[in-house]
Amino acid sequence: MRYVISGAAGFIGSHLCELLLVDGHSVVGLDNFITGSAKNVEHLRSNSKFELHDVDVTRTFEVGGNVNAVMHLASLASPKDYLAHPLETLESGSTGTRNMLDLARRHNATFLVTSTSECYGDPLEHPQVETYWGNVNPVGTRSCYDESKRYAEAITMAYHRVHGIKTNIARIFNTYGPRMQLKDGRVVPAFLDQALQGQPMTIFGDGSQTRSFCYVSDLVRGLYLLSKSEERYPVNLGNAREMTILEFAEHIQELMGSDARLEFQPLPEDDPKRRRPDIAKAKRVLGWEPLVPLDQGLRETIEYFRNVTR
Ligand code: UDP
Repeated sequence: MRYVISGAAGFIGSHLCELLLVDGHSVVGLDNFITGSAKNVEHLRSNSKFELHDVDVTRTFEVGGNVNAVMHLASLASPKDYLAHPLETLESGSTGTRNMLDLARRHNATFLVTSTSECYGDPLEHPQVETYWGNVNPVGTRSCYDESKRYAEAITMAYHRVHGIKTNIARIFNTYGPRMQLKDGRVVPAFLDQALQGQPMTIFGDGSQTRSFCYVSDLVRGLYLLSKSEERYPVNLGNAREMTILEFAEHIQELMGSDARLEFQPLPEDDPKRRRPDIAKAKRVLGWEPLVPLDQGLRETIEYFRNVTR
Protein backbone atom coordinates (compact mmCIF):
# COMPACT_ATOMS: atom_id res chain seq x y z
CA MET A 1 0.00 0.00 0.00
CA ARG A 2 1.08 3.59 -0.58
CA TYR A 3 0.24 5.91 2.33
CA VAL A 4 0.21 9.71 2.39
CA ILE A 5 0.84 11.04 5.91
CA SER A 6 0.51 14.73 6.78
CA GLY A 7 2.53 15.81 9.79
CA ALA A 8 5.04 13.08 8.91
CA ALA A 9 7.97 14.91 10.51
CA GLY A 10 6.10 15.46 13.75
CA PHE A 11 6.26 13.43 16.95
CA ILE A 12 3.46 10.94 16.27
CA GLY A 13 3.75 11.19 12.47
CA SER A 14 7.38 10.11 12.44
CA HIS A 15 6.63 7.01 14.54
CA LEU A 16 3.69 6.14 12.30
CA CYS A 17 5.84 6.41 9.14
CA GLU A 18 8.37 4.09 10.76
CA LEU A 19 5.71 1.49 11.59
CA LEU A 20 4.24 1.57 8.07
CA LEU A 21 7.68 1.16 6.48
CA VAL A 22 8.52 -1.75 8.80
CA ASP A 23 5.29 -3.38 7.64
CA GLY A 24 6.43 -3.09 4.01
CA HIS A 25 4.35 -0.11 2.85
CA SER A 26 5.44 2.97 0.90
CA VAL A 27 5.07 6.32 2.62
CA VAL A 28 4.77 9.82 1.19
CA GLY A 29 5.32 12.18 4.10
CA LEU A 30 4.06 15.77 3.99
CA ASP A 31 5.03 18.45 6.50
CA ASN A 32 5.32 22.24 6.56
CA PHE A 33 7.80 22.01 9.47
CA ILE A 34 5.97 24.57 11.62
CA THR A 35 6.45 22.23 14.58
CA GLY A 36 7.76 19.08 12.86
CA SER A 37 11.47 18.53 12.27
CA ALA A 38 13.26 16.76 9.41
CA LYS A 39 15.54 15.27 12.09
CA ASN A 40 12.61 13.13 13.29
CA VAL A 41 12.65 11.19 10.00
CA GLU A 42 16.35 11.52 9.14
CA HIS A 43 16.82 7.78 9.80
CA LEU A 44 14.11 6.94 7.23
CA ARG A 45 15.57 9.01 4.39
CA SER A 46 17.72 6.17 3.04
CA ASN A 47 14.65 3.94 2.67
CA SER A 48 13.62 3.99 -1.00
CA LYS A 49 9.99 3.53 0.04
CA PHE A 50 9.98 6.82 1.93
CA GLU A 51 9.54 10.32 0.50
CA LEU A 52 9.29 13.57 2.45
CA HIS A 53 7.85 16.74 0.91
CA ASP A 54 7.72 20.27 2.26
CA VAL A 55 3.98 20.80 1.81
CA ASP A 56 1.48 22.93 3.68
CA VAL A 57 -1.73 20.91 3.42
CA THR A 58 -3.84 24.02 4.02
CA ARG A 59 -2.74 25.17 0.51
CA THR A 60 -3.24 23.55 -2.89
CA PHE A 61 -1.08 20.47 -3.47
CA GLU A 62 -1.09 17.19 -5.37
CA VAL A 63 0.57 13.86 -4.77
CA GLY A 64 1.59 12.04 -7.95
CA GLY A 65 1.21 8.31 -8.53
CA ASN A 66 -1.12 5.92 -6.90
CA VAL A 67 -2.37 6.50 -3.31
CA ASN A 68 -4.18 3.87 -1.24
CA ALA A 69 -4.51 5.53 2.15
CA VAL A 70 -4.43 9.11 3.41
CA MET A 71 -3.83 9.95 7.06
CA HIS A 72 -4.13 13.52 8.31
CA LEU A 73 -1.98 14.09 11.39
CA ALA A 74 -0.75 17.62 10.67
CA SER A 75 -1.67 19.91 13.55
CA LEU A 76 -0.18 22.06 16.25
CA ALA A 77 -0.70 19.68 19.13
CA SER A 78 0.83 21.36 22.15
CA PRO A 79 -1.22 24.01 23.99
CA LYS A 80 1.81 26.33 23.90
CA ASP A 81 2.04 26.00 20.11
CA TYR A 82 -1.64 26.25 19.29
CA LEU A 83 -2.11 29.22 21.61
CA ALA A 84 0.77 30.94 19.75
CA HIS A 85 -0.67 30.02 16.30
CA PRO A 86 -4.48 29.90 16.64
CA LEU A 87 -5.18 30.70 12.99
CA GLU A 88 -2.80 28.07 11.62
CA THR A 89 -4.35 25.58 14.07
CA LEU A 90 -7.88 26.32 12.84
CA GLU A 91 -6.68 26.06 9.24
CA SER A 92 -5.01 22.67 9.64
CA GLY A 93 -8.17 21.21 11.19
CA SER A 94 -10.52 22.79 8.66
CA THR A 95 -8.94 23.50 5.24
CA GLY A 96 -6.18 20.96 5.89
CA THR A 97 -8.68 18.20 6.64
CA ARG A 98 -10.76 19.12 3.60
CA ASN A 99 -7.72 19.10 1.29
CA MET A 100 -6.62 15.72 2.63
CA LEU A 101 -10.17 14.36 2.20
CA ASP A 102 -10.17 15.63 -1.39
CA LEU A 103 -6.84 13.91 -1.97
CA ALA A 104 -8.33 10.64 -0.69
CA ARG A 105 -11.38 11.16 -2.89
CA ARG A 106 -9.34 11.82 -6.06
CA HIS A 107 -7.34 8.67 -5.49
CA ASN A 108 -10.18 6.50 -4.21
CA ALA A 109 -8.13 6.01 -1.04
CA THR A 110 -9.14 5.45 2.57
CA PHE A 111 -8.87 8.40 4.97
CA LEU A 112 -8.04 8.67 8.67
CA VAL A 113 -8.06 11.87 10.72
CA THR A 114 -6.39 12.25 14.10
CA SER A 115 -8.84 13.98 16.37
CA THR A 116 -8.40 14.51 20.07
CA SER A 117 -9.64 14.00 23.61
CA GLU A 118 -10.02 17.81 23.59
CA CYS A 119 -13.32 17.17 21.80
CA TYR A 120 -14.59 16.30 25.28
CA GLY A 121 -13.37 19.70 26.58
CA ASP A 122 -13.46 19.90 30.37
CA PRO A 123 -15.50 16.70 30.60
CA LEU A 124 -18.53 16.28 32.83
CA GLU A 125 -18.55 12.53 32.21
CA HIS A 126 -15.71 10.35 33.41
CA PRO A 127 -14.04 8.34 31.97
CA GLN A 128 -14.73 9.68 28.50
CA VAL A 129 -16.63 7.36 26.22
CA GLU A 130 -16.99 8.08 22.49
CA THR A 131 -20.74 8.71 22.76
CA TYR A 132 -20.17 11.66 25.14
CA TRP A 133 -20.58 14.97 23.25
CA GLY A 134 -18.23 16.95 25.45
CA ASN A 135 -18.09 20.24 27.32
CA VAL A 136 -16.10 22.63 25.13
CA ASN A 137 -15.82 26.40 25.50
CA PRO A 138 -16.29 27.49 21.86
CA VAL A 139 -14.78 30.96 22.35
CA GLY A 140 -11.99 30.34 24.88
CA THR A 141 -8.31 30.42 23.96
CA ARG A 142 -8.19 26.61 23.57
CA SER A 143 -11.13 26.65 21.16
CA CYS A 144 -8.84 27.09 18.13
CA TYR A 145 -7.68 23.52 18.74
CA ASP A 146 -10.85 21.91 20.10
CA GLU A 147 -13.22 23.38 17.54
CA SER A 148 -10.92 22.74 14.57
CA LYS A 149 -10.77 19.07 15.55
CA ARG A 150 -14.54 18.93 16.07
CA TYR A 151 -14.96 20.46 12.61
CA ALA A 152 -12.44 17.90 11.26
CA GLU A 153 -14.62 15.10 12.64
CA ALA A 154 -17.77 16.68 11.20
CA ILE A 155 -16.37 17.14 7.68
CA THR A 156 -14.91 13.63 7.75
CA MET A 157 -18.34 12.16 8.53
CA ALA A 158 -19.89 14.39 5.84
CA TYR A 159 -17.41 13.17 3.19
CA HIS A 160 -18.17 9.61 4.22
CA ARG A 161 -21.92 10.17 4.00
CA VAL A 162 -21.92 12.30 0.83
CA HIS A 163 -19.03 10.79 -1.16
CA GLY A 164 -18.87 7.28 0.33
CA ILE A 165 -15.20 7.62 1.34
CA LYS A 166 -13.96 5.00 3.79
CA THR A 167 -13.07 7.16 6.77
CA ASN A 168 -11.79 6.64 10.32
CA ILE A 169 -11.61 9.06 13.25
CA ALA A 170 -9.11 8.55 16.07
CA ARG A 171 -9.54 10.54 19.29
CA ILE A 172 -6.02 10.65 20.66
CA PHE A 173 -5.45 11.17 24.39
CA ASN A 174 -2.18 12.40 25.96
CA THR A 175 0.71 10.65 24.25
CA TYR A 176 4.42 10.77 25.08
CA GLY A 177 7.71 9.34 23.89
CA PRO A 178 10.92 10.09 22.02
CA ARG A 179 10.82 12.94 19.45
CA MET A 180 8.52 15.14 21.47
CA GLN A 181 10.04 18.59 21.38
CA LEU A 182 11.87 19.34 24.59
CA LYS A 183 10.48 22.87 24.79
CA ASP A 184 6.98 22.34 23.45
CA GLY A 185 5.47 23.09 26.84
CA ARG A 186 3.61 19.83 27.30
CA VAL A 187 3.84 18.25 30.68
CA VAL A 188 6.01 15.23 29.83
CA PRO A 189 8.86 17.09 28.09
CA ALA A 190 8.53 19.98 30.58
CA PHE A 191 8.92 17.76 33.66
CA LEU A 192 11.65 15.59 32.16
CA ASP A 193 13.62 18.61 30.96
CA GLN A 194 13.27 20.34 34.33
CA ALA A 195 14.31 17.21 36.23
CA LEU A 196 17.30 16.69 33.91
CA GLN A 197 18.41 20.31 34.31
CA GLY A 198 17.79 20.28 38.08
CA GLN A 199 15.30 23.14 37.66
CA PRO A 200 11.99 23.48 39.53
CA MET A 201 9.18 21.36 38.10
CA THR A 202 6.32 23.67 37.14
CA ILE A 203 2.94 22.40 38.37
CA PHE A 204 0.03 24.35 36.93
CA GLY A 205 -2.76 24.91 39.47
CA ASP A 206 -2.62 22.66 42.54
CA GLY A 207 -1.75 19.61 40.42
CA SER A 208 -5.01 17.82 41.22
CA GLN A 209 -6.05 17.71 37.54
CA THR A 210 -5.61 14.27 36.00
CA ARG A 211 -4.25 12.91 32.73
CA SER A 212 -3.59 9.40 31.36
CA PHE A 213 -0.40 8.93 29.35
CA CYS A 214 -0.02 6.57 26.40
CA TYR A 215 3.36 5.58 24.97
CA VAL A 216 3.77 6.51 21.31
CA SER A 217 4.44 2.97 19.98
CA ASP A 218 1.11 1.83 21.43
CA LEU A 219 -0.64 4.82 19.95
CA VAL A 220 0.64 4.41 16.38
CA ARG A 221 -0.22 0.70 16.45
CA GLY A 222 -3.77 1.77 17.32
CA LEU A 223 -3.85 4.27 14.45
CA TYR A 224 -2.65 1.62 12.02
CA LEU A 225 -5.27 -0.91 13.16
CA LEU A 226 -8.00 1.72 13.00
CA SER A 227 -7.02 2.71 9.46
CA LYS A 228 -7.59 -0.88 8.38
CA SER A 229 -10.93 -1.20 10.17
CA GLU A 230 -14.48 -0.58 8.99
CA GLU A 231 -15.28 1.62 12.01
CA ARG A 232 -16.51 5.01 10.77
CA TYR A 233 -17.35 6.63 14.13
CA PRO A 234 -14.68 8.00 16.51
CA VAL A 235 -12.51 5.60 18.50
CA ASN A 236 -10.60 6.67 21.64
CA LEU A 237 -6.91 5.76 21.64
CA GLY A 238 -5.12 6.29 24.91
CA ASN A 239 -3.94 4.69 28.09
CA ALA A 240 -6.50 4.23 30.86
CA ARG A 241 -3.95 4.63 33.69
CA GLU A 242 -4.97 7.96 35.21
CA MET A 243 -2.96 10.06 37.65
CA THR A 244 -2.94 13.57 39.02
CA ILE A 245 -0.29 15.92 37.66
CA LEU A 246 1.16 16.18 41.17
CA GLU A 247 1.48 12.38 41.40
CA PHE A 248 3.04 12.38 37.95
CA ALA A 249 5.66 14.97 38.99
CA GLU A 250 6.51 12.99 42.13
CA HIS A 251 6.70 9.80 40.11
CA ILE A 252 9.21 11.39 37.74
CA GLN A 253 11.31 12.72 40.63
CA GLU A 254 11.44 9.19 42.06
CA LEU A 255 12.20 7.51 38.73
CA MET A 256 15.02 9.94 37.96
CA GLY A 257 16.31 10.24 41.51
CA SER A 258 15.80 13.98 41.12
CA ASP A 259 15.43 16.40 44.00
CA ALA A 260 14.13 19.18 41.72
CA ARG A 261 11.61 21.14 43.78
CA LEU A 262 8.00 21.68 42.73
CA GLU A 263 6.93 25.19 41.74
CA PHE A 264 3.21 25.96 41.58
CA GLN A 265 2.06 28.27 38.76
CA PRO A 266 -1.39 29.49 37.62
CA LEU A 267 -3.62 26.97 35.85
CA PRO A 268 -4.12 27.84 32.15
CA GLU A 269 -7.60 28.86 30.98
CA ASP A 270 -10.05 25.96 30.46
CA ASP A 271 -7.46 23.35 31.47
CA PRO A 272 -9.50 20.10 31.71
CA LYS A 273 -9.78 18.85 35.30
CA ARG A 274 -10.00 15.14 34.57
CA ARG A 275 -9.14 13.04 31.55
CA ARG A 276 -9.15 9.29 31.09
CA PRO A 277 -10.19 7.40 27.98
CA ASP A 278 -12.74 4.63 28.03
CA ILE A 279 -11.00 2.25 25.63
CA ALA A 280 -13.60 -0.53 25.60
CA LYS A 281 -14.49 0.31 22.00
CA ALA A 282 -10.87 0.14 20.78
CA LYS A 283 -10.50 -3.23 22.53
CA ARG A 284 -13.72 -4.55 21.00
CA VAL A 285 -13.39 -3.15 17.48
CA LEU A 286 -9.62 -3.22 16.96
CA GLY A 287 -8.45 -5.76 19.54
CA TRP A 288 -6.15 -2.95 20.70
CA GLU A 289 -4.92 -1.93 24.11
CA PRO A 290 -1.73 -0.25 25.33
CA LEU A 291 1.10 -2.64 26.19
CA VAL A 292 3.98 -0.41 27.31
CA PRO A 293 4.06 0.22 31.09
CA LEU A 294 4.49 3.86 32.14
CA ASP A 295 7.95 3.41 33.67
CA GLN A 296 9.29 1.63 30.59
CA GLY A 297 7.94 4.37 28.31
CA LEU A 298 9.31 7.09 30.57
CA ARG A 299 12.76 5.45 30.65
CA GLU A 300 12.88 5.38 26.83
CA THR A 301 11.80 9.03 26.73
CA ILE A 302 14.32 10.09 29.38
CA GLU A 303 17.07 8.35 27.41
CA TYR A 304 16.04 10.25 24.28
CA PHE A 305 15.99 13.61 26.07
CA ARG A 306 19.36 12.88 27.69
CA ASN A 307 20.84 12.38 24.22
CA VAL A 308 19.31 15.50 22.68
CA THR A 309 20.39 17.72 25.56
CA ARG A 310 23.93 16.31 25.63
N1 UDP B 1 1.06 21.06 33.08
C1 UDP B 1 1.77 21.37 34.22
N2 UDP B 1 3.04 21.87 34.09
C2 UDP B 1 3.64 22.05 32.87
C3 UDP B 1 2.90 21.70 31.71
C4 UDP B 1 1.62 21.22 31.84
O1 UDP B 1 1.27 21.22 35.35
O2 UDP B 1 4.79 22.51 32.84
C5 UDP B 1 -0.30 20.50 33.22
C6 UDP B 1 -1.36 21.20 32.36
O3 UDP B 1 -1.90 22.31 33.05
C7 UDP B 1 -2.36 20.08 32.18
C8 UDP B 1 -1.50 18.82 32.14
O4 UDP B 1 -0.27 19.17 32.76
O5 UDP B 1 -3.25 20.01 33.25
C9 UDP B 1 -1.23 18.29 30.74
O6 UDP B 1 -0.78 19.38 29.97
P1 UDP B 1 -0.26 19.21 28.49
O7 UDP B 1 0.08 20.59 28.01
O8 UDP B 1 0.80 18.19 28.42
O9 UDP B 1 -1.49 18.63 27.67
P2 UDP B 1 -3.08 18.84 27.71
O10 UDP B 1 -3.59 17.59 28.32
O11 UDP B 1 -3.42 20.04 28.54
O12 UDP B 1 -3.42 19.00 26.30
